[in-house]
Amino acid sequence: MRETTDIAVIGAGVVGLTIALELVDQGREVVLVDPGAPGMGASYGNAGTIASYATSPVGTPDVLRALPSLLLSKTSPLAIRHRALPSLAPWLLRFLWQSLPAQADRNSRALASLLTNAADLWDDLALRVQGAGILQRRGCLYLYETPQAFTSARSELDHRRALGVEVELIGPDRLAELEPNLPGTLGGAAHFTGATFLDDPGRMMGLIAAQVLQKARHLQARAESLTRGPDGVVIEGGGKDGGLHLHARRVVIAAGAQSRDLARQAGDRIPLDTERGYHVEWDMATPLLSRPACPTARGFYFCPMAGRLRVAGTVELGGLTLPPSPHRIARLVEGARAFFPDLGPPDRDWMGFRPSIPDSLPVIGPSTGGPDVIHAFGHGHIGVTLAPVTARIVGGLMSGKGPGLDIAAVSPGRF
Ligand SMILES: Cc1cc2nc3c(=O)[nH]c(=O)nc-3n(C[C@H](O)[C@H](O)[C@H](O)COP(=O)(O)OP(=O)(O)OC[C@H]3O[C@@H](n4cnc5c(N)ncnc54)[C@H](O)[C@@H]3O)c2cc1C
Repeated sequence: MRETTDIAVIGAGVVGLTIALELVDQGREVVLVDPGAPGMGASYGNAGTIASYATSPVGTPDVLRALPSLLLSKTSPLAIRHRALPSLAPWLLRFLWQSLPAQADRNSRALASLLTNAADLWDDLALRVQGAGILQRRGCLYLYETPQAFTSARSELDHRRALGVEVELIGPDRLAELEPNLPGTLGGAAHFTGATFLDDPGRMMGLIAAQVLQKARHLQARAESLTRGPDGVVIEGGGKDGGLHLHARRVVIAAGAQSRDLARQAGDRIPLDTERGYHVEWDMATPLLSRPACPTARGFYFCPMAGRLRVAGTVELGGLTLPPSPHRIARLVEGARAFFPDLGPPDRDWMGFRPSIPDSLPVIGPSTGGPDVIHAFGHGHIGVTLAPVTARIVGGLMSGKGPGLDIAAVSPGRF
């Protein structure tokens, strides 16, 4: 595979695909490099929420305080695979630091600024790829299982409101009107009234990929090395059609959780690791709820998907190589049955790799080694939501118009 192109996009997840779409729309020549089918990484199995309300970073003072109980409880939404601890330690230390009040507040403001136009850009994207039928407008719920938990959440929800998030606090009666199948014993809920969601993220990925591939090529290969030369970058690696040798004038690294080594070759040491997440699914014609609902203490979402109920979420710190944990899958099933006791055995399960940075902010911008390589990875829990925002920024950097918003908080040089 000896090829040349104007721009190579490494990674065809939601981030790489939306960037590629933005670039082909600008009339640029684009090659996508990914060993797998487009959109089949984390971008396939997520909860599908366009979470413009997600202005809280993962690391906060509340999480710090709860950490001992989160780590000790067998039913916790957080687990650490002990074998991965030595390689995880530097990431964990940075995470603890980012969870302190001043850092968490700064990260929350940076997230709010990035999220400002996310929902509108998703509306445009869904129309652009003829996927408007997959983007649902029924809001999204955070569920609090006791009146005490509901009361305690108020200050955090007020903080989101102050950052521009639309949220209504609703009691058990209104919740029962919205979602009659939920148990009547819950303490209350936060209703993010303007939120949208994808009722089939995999299908949406397929539609975006189909648009991109009308104008771009896809090389089924893994990028392993980047070598800078006077007139661009040579990407080498391996693929099903033999060795890859691609000369590109400019390169975008969008390989999700697997971007760290490529970024290092471009000149940046980025503290990227993974928060592994899981889903289980039950096939059913009408999926029990009308909108995504997250029992916050359990760290997963009930997601009404086309023809099935998906239960997706939880965090497992365990690196990229260990196999999925049957224990995590069993906990998700148990958590789902706490709300819907009649659920039988799930029809399928899945694990994916969130690309996570300790400050919960992605890395977007030119590499320290030069603007011929642009980073676009590390979107953690909200990569679907932020993909079109990222594509706008990268498109602006490529065209010379500029990123369109202040990107200091997501710069690769911030570490
Ligand atoms: C359980 C769960 C629930 C989630 N829920 C939500 C949600 O509701 N809303 C939301 O916004 N986000 C959610 N997320 C997060 C979101 O899914 C991710 O942030 C997002 O999918 C990351 O997209 P990506 O394109 O960076 O990575 P990926 O989708 O993982 O894609 C990376 C691609 O790069 C390719 N690749 C890797 N290495 C190489 C290489 N060396 N060369 C070439 N290609 C390479 C891979 O094959 C893959 O196709 C969730 C994640 C999980 C796990």
